[in-house]
Amino acid sequence: KEKKKIGLTTKIFIALLAGAVFGIILCYAVPSGHIKDDIIVEGVLYVVGQGFIKLMKMLVVPLVFCSLVCGSMSIGDTKKLGTVGARTLIFYLATTALAVTVALSVGNLINPGVGLDMSTIKTNAASVETMKATSLTDTLLNIIPDNPINSLASGEMLQIIVFALIIGVILAKLGERAETVANFFSQFNDIMMEMTMMIMALAPIGVFCLISRTFANIGFSAFVPLAKYMIGVLIALAIQCFGVYQILLKIFTGLNPLKFIKKFFPVMAFAFSTATSNATIPLSIDTLTKKVGVSKKISSFTIPLGATINMDGTSIMQGVAVVFAAQAFGIHLSMTDYITVIGTATLASIGTAGVPSVGLVTLTMVFNSVGLPVEAIGLIMGIDRILDMTRTAVNITGDAVCTTIVAHQNKALDKNVFYAEEN
Ligand code: ASP
Repeated sequence: KEKKKIGLTTKIFIALLAGAVFGIILCYAVPSGHIKDDIIVEGVLYVVGQGFIKLMKMLVVPLVFCSLVCGSMSIGDTKKLGTVGARTLIFYLATTALAVTVALSVGNLINPGVGLDMSTIKTNAASVETMKATSLTDTLLNIIPDNPINSLASGEMLQIIVFALIIGVILAKLGERAETVANFFSQFNDIMMEMTMMIMALAPIGVFCLISRTFANIGFSAFVPLAKYMIGVLIALAIQCFGVYQILLKIFTGLNPLKFIKKFFPVMAFAFSTATSNATIPLSIDTLTKKVGVSKKISSFTIPLGATINMDGTSIMQGVAVVFAAQAFGIHLSMTDYITVIGTATLASIGTAGVPSVGLVTLTMVFNSVGLPVEAIGLIMGIDRILDMTRTAVNITGDAVCTTIVAHQNKALDKNVFYAEEN
């Protein structure tokens, strides 16, 4: 009799829970000392966890580049590419604006900063990294690479996307004259997908180590004075992820939202444990292709783009943080201020890569836009990791939902794959 195999999703889920429990035990039940701190937490857990993230990161640039070249080559004409691009941008902007609106509403209902006793919070105001808004003209010019090799080497996503799209379109135009190069890219793309699968088999171990180390290091007592803020962010994230996205998915594609979440769960768990949208790109493309039925033609373009420019979860944290800081410092914000926040939070994410904590850095831009004190960021820094993990899971779910919708609109969604039992 064949033994029933436990699927990767279940394994990752178990790893996530076991990691959290193990981390909390380490935090509270094991006394500090050389064995716990140096050997277990900062030794084994750190090396295995970071090693896993590095393996996933290793895939990103070659995979994104090759699959984008192949994707744009198979779409072929620039007009069609333009339509896909325009639709994607509209969805990305709309979901982000919705996200900030949800966040501001939840913030104003929960009042996270009212009655806050600031003396109970450890502030890291001195180490707040600030960021000046780049002008729109510079943001636009930055999309074009000066030197494409340099962009590849430093992982500049938007520049890589532009260069790969152009190569793909030209390969389609040249047809047989560039067959060798076209074959090279599609075979290399297969190699990268295979590598993704191999590395993903290690996901349960990687996720376990990442989560246990995070929980072992977290000071839960720091959460207490900021509980209302945290709950506010988590509620708004949940509304966006399980409400807004699923309604959009149902309306625009007719797919079953629960099934979608179940299929996409490993990707969310990965994003949660790593807090890095960028490293999640390969897994997200793979899952959308194999389990949801989205053609790689679309996902290879929209997922890397989304990891860079569409960060709904991050904007949600920023929306609630604005209400929190305004209330904590007794600053009144007008309707115009709120609209400015929606605009700035939407634009702030464009051009910043999806890496851990970047949302706190762009938050300085949002605070500056309405004159809130940047020191307020110091108050929430200490507890940001857990919110960073959660919002990253929402960030990549937003990209995936928009991608599925755009694929459906471009007749590149195979519903048979989505409803196939073994997936
Ligand atoms: N860690 C987030 C991401 O990678 C960005 C952030 O909000 O800090 O998507």
